[in-house]
Amino acid sequence: MASLAQRMTELTRERGHLAAAGVNPFGVCMDEVTSATEAVIAGRPTILVGTNNYLGLSFAPESIAAAVAATERMGTGTTGSRVANGTYALHQQLERRIADLYDRPEALVFSTGYMANLGVLSTVAGPGDTILLDADSHACIYDGCRLSGATMIRFRHNDVEDLEKRIRRLGAERTGNLVIVVEGVYSMLGDRAPLREIVEVKKRHGAILVVDEAHSLGVFGDRGRGLAEEVGVLGDIDFVAATFSKSVGTIGGFCVSNADGLDLLRYTARPYVFSASLPPSVVAAAIASIDLMEKGTHLRARLWENVGWLHARLTGLGLEVIAAESPILAVRMPSEQALLAAWMGLLERGVYVNLALPPATPQAVYLLRCSVCAEHTQPQLERVVDAFTEIAGGN
Ligand code: PMP
Repeated sequence: MASLAQRMTELTRERGHLAAAGVNPFGVCMDEVTSATEAVIAGRPTILVGTNNYLGLSFAPESIAAAVAATERMGTGTTGSRVANGTYALHQQLERRIADLYDRPEALVFSTGYMANLGVLSTVAGPGDTILLDADSHACIYDGCRLSGATMIRFRHNDVEDLEKRIRRLGAERTGNLVIVVEGVYSMLGDRAPLREIVEVKKRHGAILVVDEAHSLGVFGDRGRGLAEEVGVLGDIDFVAATFSKSVGTIGGFCVSNADGLDLLRYTARPYVFSASLPPSVVAAAIASIDLMEKGTHLRARLWENVGWLHARLTGLGLEVIAAESPILAVRMPSEQALLAAWMGLLERGVYVNLALPPATPQAVYLLRCSVCAEHTQPQLERVVDAFTEIAGGN
């Protein structure tokens, strides 16, 4: 077993090549955040094209007012878990709001989306069960599978045939429950899951289907409920998990289910039982923002206009954008060196995008991960394209 000192040396070495390039892309500090699309970074006004704030709701006046009022009324924190002193009427109101949104009897709110996935997966599956997960799944899906103690089988990203082949291979050995986990939109490449086909597989094999709508909530569907709503299969999803930390513009997670007895998770889900509940400010902001999200057809229209516009301009510059299926436009770079230079070049020109590189990326690709917001203005997007033009031309 490696000693702590050895382990730290290894990690330092891994990080060393980034430090040598003079950047710490994972330590960017926003000195000020002045709107959903602008911040001051290293003293420079910067356009944010690397958040998950797809609808721009982190600055919605209604949500800010609700957060301030709740803080003044109920304080800055609950100081305890939901099963102890951390359930306020406001938490129950938020759960009612989400249950109504999804036309389900009940919803459960967690303190993060990460914890929602951990809680759901470790409850729906246990030792003796099998979880099939998309290979590109978020870390919290992997961690939730591990916490469950079930057998984990990865299938090739978005490959329904591979999923079905792996289920068939289980054959007679299959004993316990079969759980399939996918995401609505994948956070790195920005592509969507083939949900209709996955629902067919689930039905054919009597599996339980869990969909993490983290990046698709607010973005798809008439009422912003995610990709399952958009493609008309919401009724077939056994568990929907999602987060408030993206389109909802605050923090927290939730899950809704078709299954009876969702309430059980309040006793079995360790992240729910053993961690403090969300503070009143966050819960109040989430309720206000979910209202705006559900009614936000105009925001979704603006978002998709912006996505279409930026995608056309970036590809027009000869850049390879992996998918245009979501607000995540991932620009593929040929090498780590090119990626770091481009990322820094954009930052120096007042444009912040996410830098994504192996091992965090699927297929070991190098990505400038851009994410579009409904609140990006045309002049802002033009400045973003100007910056890309300059770095592409080496100016
Ligand atoms: N699921 C996916 C697909 C995510 O991308 C993320 C966050 N990046 C999460 C879950 C976790 O959400 P949270 O930040 O609320 O913990």
